[in-house]
Amino acid sequence: MAIKTLNFLVKQFSNYYRDHGNAILPPSQFENREFAFFWFSREGALRHTSFANLEELIQFMGREGPAHTFHSAAYYEKPDAPQMPLKEWRGTDLVFDIDADHFDLPCQKQHDIWWCLECGHRDHGRRPDLCPKCNASRLDELKWMCDECLAKSKEEAIKIIENFLVPDFGISRSEIMIVFSGHRGYHVHSYTSEILSLGSQARREIVDYISGTGIDFRSHGFVDNAYGVPKGPDPHSPGWERKIAQGIRFLFQNPSQLQKIPGLRANQARILQEEAKTISEHLMEEPARYITPKGVGRKTWSTIAQYVLESTSAIVDEPVTTDIHRLIRLPGSLHGKTGFIVKKVELSALADFDPFRHAQTFQGTITVSIKDSPAFTLGSVHYPPMREIKKELPLSAAMLLLCKGVAEIT
Ligand SMILES: [Zn+2]
Ligand SMILES: [Zn+2]
Repeated sequence: MAIKTLNFLVKQFSNYYRDHGNAILPPSQFENREFAFFWFSREGALRHTSFANLEELIQFMGREGPAHTFHSAAYYEKPDAPQMPLKEWRGTDLVFDIDADHFDLPCQKQHDIWWCLECGHRDHGRRPDLCPKCNASRLDELKWMCDECLAKSKEEAIKIIENFLVPDFGISRSEIMIVFSGHRGYHVHSYTSEILSLGSQARREIVDYISGTGIDFRSHGFVDNAYGVPKGPDPHSPGWERKIAQGIRFLFQNPSQLQKIPGLRANQARILQEEAKTISEHLMEEPARYITPKGVGRKTWSTIAQYVLESTSAIVDEPVTTDIHRLIRLPGSLHGKTGFIVKKVELSALADFDPFRHAQTFQGTITVSIKDSPAFTLGSVHYPPMREIKKELPLSAAMLLLCKGVAEIT
């Protein structure tokens, strides 16, 4: 990126922090948090910093215009101590990072590209480890985002909260915060006092539970009784057994959903749909009965249970949750790869939240020199793919292209 562009980005970010300092949402126990900053025009990061109060932090950000701003999910007695053991750890919020990087979506094969720095070969989709043409490992990539991957991230965030944190962990919605990451996902923060002292191992158990990792259906009600008739999960049992039982009931009450189950053969799906009413009635008995119509065996029940598991569980980035010293983006700061606001979203407003509208801040227009940008929509404006062109754009669109490194200041 040209120096001129880097300086422009620093200036725009600085201006944002000077004018919109009140958008910064300080984490609780502010003075016990470590802060970290990454820059546009400097290598490396500034870590192990703390601030006495919010005003000091905002002034610093307005002066320096950092590209990325993080705070520790942890609370420390000495947050600015240079090494972890010296910080005197006091607890960590439970945080989840949901990022489209962890999904395999059709849209990513269209809007993500990578290229080989040795032979110039380029292709769409996920960047491989080695160039398939020349075997070089020096590859670069451009990741983009669209409604589809952001909707999927939002869906996973909602699953964490509504399927697990609230019903199973008993965490109040008032102690959960959801934040748009500023790029391709969402962060879920929970700061209920009971979880702050949990160590990495306990947090890994939570991740395994939420992601449904290692579930053995035999431990959740699926066993054969003496007559070979399958017994299934009990909807009155706690935890995953109830989730699976309820998910199966839902499928047979809404039989068109049965077609969605991968792993079911067409004729099995047809039989299940035809018999859905009868099966559903048996599932509602006390105890629930998992009957096997002709052509449908016990294996089918486990295929259905697997589908329920996958659609109920959530995909989370494990290291972010299990690392008690992890840094997380500061809500209200800007994301240096997009210029979008890292924005807190009220749970009640989440369904309607659109990052391409509601996480934008830059006003005005500017002419930039575009190298190669994919199609995107920002606000209500759709931009076609652009290549080797000078163009006047709304500042929010220009900032996105500049931050992404696909345009320069003229
Ligand atoms: Zn190559
Ligand atoms: Zn996408």
